[in-house]
Amino acid sequence: MMIIPKANKLDSSQLQEIESIVGEFDCTILEIQGHNQCVYAILGDETHALMFKRIAGLSFVRKVDAIESPYKLMDRRSALSEHQVQLGISKPGMNSPFIIGGPCTIDPQNPSLFIETAHALKDVGVNALRGGVWKPRTNPYSYQGDNQAIEIILQAREETGLPIDLEVMDSDQLKIALDAKVDILQVGTRNALNYSLLKEIGKLSAGSGSGVLLKRGRHVASPDEFIAAAEYIVAAGNPNVMLCPRGTTPPLDGYRNHPDESITPLLKNRTWAPVVVDPSHSVGHAEYVLASSLAAIAYGADGLCVESHLKPAKGIGDDPKQAITPEKMRELISSCREMWKHRYQPRD
Ligand code: PEP
Ligand code: MN
Repeated sequence: MMIIPKANKLDSSQLQEIESIVGEFDCTILEIQGHNQCVYAILGDETHALMFKRIAGLSFVRKVDAIESPYKLMDRRSALSEHQVQLGISKPGMNSPFIIGGPCTIDPQNPSLFIETAHALKDVGVNALRGGVWKPRTNPYSYQGDNQAIEIILQAREETGLPIDLEVMDSDQLKIALDAKVDILQVGTRNALNYSLLKEIGKLSAGSGSGVLLKRGRHVASPDEFIAAAEYIVAAGNPNVMLCPRGTTPPLDGYRNHPDESITPLLKNRTWAPVVVDPSHSVGHAEYVLASSLAAIAYGADGLCVESHLKPAKGIGDDPKQAITPEKMRELISSCREMWKHRYQPRD
């Protein structure tokens, strides 16, 4: 159950009054700070009719929502349905595709190449920069990342003014990223079912304004399993989640994964959260990234996360295979803006 106050937020005496009511029924309250409005989730066995009546009767409560849904916060009918994720000056889903671009992995030996890529991407119109500081590699002998690399992406943010996105895989990385006020915390496909990490991210980033880009589990997570994973983050306090389909396994022979842009309208119809598709890991080859991006936007995606590098051949992660150059990114952005006008939109 979700409590929606008449004002944007409950004051402390109102919160105390509600806490004492729910306490009688062995429940607790969690404040979730939306963009314009706070909502309050009742945690515990919230099915008591008497508790519902007593809270609904309070003069400062607009309504108590009791929607039947496996993901009561992520549901399109939930009190958060009007919530708008905001990253820097961008609101994914509004006006034009929200584009995250940048190399797979930041090369700590070559900071200037990352910085130059960042400037080139800003010039062609990306809305946020990506770059891996810590990497989930299939092979333990591959480059695993380096704490120092965060300084390079922070410098790129400073110089370009663009919000930054990077993946965190554990608590230590999460804390470093939060201290650095990283704008978008990425959860990779390998951690898509790591519920302890999802809860920790939601809790520690609550109220920070940081967004979370949650990749789809590559084991072919169903729309409901994917949305429920995001629910963990929101239920722990951070509603700024974006869902990121990125291809599933087994791969379609010839692609890196099995492209899954077509899950987008299913997500859009069930949840209010922006969908930001990753075409790069999905197809895994630079030459198919434009087609996959256009398909994603046609299916109603609010944005894209695209690997892009000034000199893909010099990339130390996935870039040599799948990164597009900033010049290709320019074409991609302009074609996707055209496609945006014809995109699928959720039914009411
Ligand atoms: C990445 O974004 O570089 C990455 C490793 O993503 P995924 O978790 O989708 O494989
Ligand atoms: Mn990558």
